[in-house]
Amino acid sequence: MVKQRTVPFFNYSHMFISQEKGVISIIKDVGRRGAFIMQKDLREFEERLAEYVGVKHAIGTADGTMALLMGLMASGIGPGDEVIVPSHTFVASVATIHHAGATPVLADCGPDHLIEADSVEELVTPRTRAIMPVQLNGRTADMDLLLSVAEHHNLVIVEDSCQALGSKFKGRFAGTFGISGAFSFFPSKTLGCFGDGGALVTNDDDVAEQVRLLRDHGRNSNGKVVCFGFNSRLDNLHAAILNFKLKTYDWDIARRRELATMYHSQLKDVSELMLPPPPDVDSDHYDIFQNYEIEAERRDELRGYLSDQGVGTILQWGGYAVHQFEKLGFDVVPPYAERMTRRFMLLPMNTAIADEDVDYVCENIIEFYHSGQGRS
Ligand SMILES: *Cc1c(COP(=O)(O)O)cnc(C)c1O
Repeated sequence: MVKQRTVPFFNYSHMFISQEKGVISIIKDVGRRGAFIMQKDLREFEERLAEYVGVKHAIGTADGTMALLMGLMASGIGPGDEVIVPSHTFVASVATIHHAGATPVLADCGPDHLIEADSVEELVTPRTRAIMPVQLNGRTADMDLLLSVAEHHNLVIVEDSCQALGSKFKGRFAGTFGISGAFSFFPSKTLGCFGDGGALVTNDDDVAEQVRLLRDHGRNSNGKVVCFGFNSRLDNLHAAILNFKLKTYDWDIARRRELATMYHSQLKDVSELMLPPPPDVDSDHYDIFQNYEIEAERRDELRGYLSDQGVGTILQWGGYAVHQFEKLGFDVVPPYAERMTRRFMLLPMNTAIADEDVDYVCENIIEFYHSGQGRS
């Protein structure tokens, strides 16, 4: 038997406490300057973020959902248009298509849990205007395949890269493949702030200008209203904190990749599990491991066992794919996503966990399947 320890799924206070001194001095600095809305810290963060992912424009927004919505609107997507989006995603991705006035069409995912190009191709109709790939769990989809589908049918790509800041496919950053990409700084995201925050990135000057208007009540730089907009700005204080955290962000990613390597090496021979591709298994993908999403036989019993041993796990989106929310009225059943929701779960993956925590989680999973607890 392994000595009991506690491995929470996520440790929210650690985010703050681990960098408390730096954060407090930023709060003092911003507060003493009275710099709360659209100040230099926001501009600096936008510049740094744009530079980080290699795009012309980054625009801070209230959250990732609004970045997605405004990105769709700025690309002219609206009533009469269909947008293809994976069913295995946060409902927010799909909701933004609905709120833009367009019709979301749900595609399936493949074994890496990302949108599948073949499934997208089958769903294209004369009304399809866009694909919204969701770069889930910190991995970027095979964008060669999706870009070729998009090109073939003359579709726009609006990326939901909310879980994938720093992730790359063939050296190119998530969020930069289409007309726009959205990032989220929700606390549990890889670059999390202490509340809600988001950003839109784009190389398109018109989209950038439109989103800058949309996020600030449709006001131009002279204060004149030129369209109906929203109030969806990234708080200046949050921008200042994100600026500070971005400096050490590559270290955070390196640590996540190290943890993923540890999980992989300890669990790869457990035949009851299906693991995400490990880091460096192929040179096309650079994954940042926002999440460590596995598939497991006897998933619910495994989760119960781990919980008894002090290990927190969760089911992404509460255990559902979007097509399974009956009230939303989708009448499709993407087969892989449907099966996967009975098997998928997230293991603890964040920069607060120690090597020994990963060892403990893995030992308990192995113990569960080998002790007979995992057999019926
Ligand atoms: C977090 C997330 C969003 C939305 O982000 P918010 O900042 O919470 O609005 C959208 N899509 C996916 C896949 C996400 O994980």
